Amino acid sequence: MINLNQTNLNELVEKVKTGDRRSLAKAITLVESTRQDHRNLSRLILEKLKNKSKTSVKIGLTGTPGVGKSTFIETLGLHLTNTGKKVAVLAVDPSSVTTGGSILGDKTRMELLSKKNNAFIRPSPNQGSLGGVAKRTREVISLCEAAGYNIILVETVGVGQSETVVSEMTDVFCLLIAPTGGDELQGVKRGIMEISDIILINKSDGDLKLLAKQTSAQYKSALNLFRRRSHDPPNFPQVMPISSLTNLGPAKVWEAIEELILWRKENGYFDTIRNEQKIASFNRELNNKFQEKTFRSKKIVSEIQATKRQIYQGLITPEVAAEDLINKILIRDS
Ligand code: GDP
Repeated sequence: MINLNQTNLNELVEKVKTGDRRSLAKAITLVESTRQDHRNLSRLILEKLKNKSKTSVKIGLTGTPGVGKSTFIETLGLHLTNTGKKVAVLAVDPSSVTTGGSILGDKTRMELLSKKNNAFIRPSPNQGSLGGVAKRTREVISLCEAAGYNIILVETVGVGQSETVVSEMTDVFCLLIAPTGGDELQGVKRGIMEISDIILINKSDGDLKLLAKQTSAQYKSALNLFRRRSHDPPNFPQVMPISSLTNLGPAKVWEAIEELILWRKENGYFDTIRNEQKIASFNRELNNKFQEKTFRSKKIVSEIQATKRQIYQGLITPEVAAEDLINKILIRDS
């Protein structure tokens, strides 16, 4: 139960700024809450933290369950915290949206990393729509940035649309793949490959090492068929075999991430991408809000039902029906 008045709200904000982890966790709980009074408070908190200088980089990581995401994030997190960086790990879990359960959150995860003073690990919020979870994750990122975390790792399961949503809130996006060695690219959707900056072929150790090498070669040639993205240096997107078991990965993956970020900054793409992401979030949010407001109106819902019946009976085409209905609502409500 969180009770806050103006004085201790300011106190909370100040403590978040100093990096106090308990206060950060409390602020995140408010941001994730669906209660209206909490929403109002979190808006105030975010507003107060808006101008705190934010210099963090945000890395998205995706892959199917079992590919080794949490193991890799832990080794990467340990590598970074050992070099003095402050690392926050967040999760966007689409399974929690559809089932109320969570693929990512239920496991006891990243035990070593969670013991580090300069690491902060937050499981996925497990309620609401994907859009809602995404919005809250963006706000949680902003709180972590204000608390001085200079590297934010956002993990998601590679199913559904969550990887697009996560790629829209991060600077560099990594896809983890298991070694198969087979001819097929494991049914990995083209769309996910297109948004990936670095493809990591995990478990490149022991018996799987050779397979990982073959898989890596396949992905490299598959990427050659894609159109080169203007916001990439010539040697990106990259494919690299890694292993969390033998610790072959964290250092070179981080080096690649830094190389990409530096190049984008020097060539003016870093901020452009962030600005485009903000516009994409705005569009997404606007759509969500329109839908939310529309479906809250009993009148509009009954008009939609009546229109659906007309479409069903062949009295009107879906395209004309949608246009007419929107015009009717906009004229009436303007
Ligand atoms: P997640 O579901 O993607 O988060 O996957 P986990 O990190 O929980 O790992 C799934 C399984 O793969 C676990 O049994 C890990 O021990 C194993 N694993 C993870 N990384 C590696 C690796 O680099 N090499 C090998 N051989 N096994 C790994």
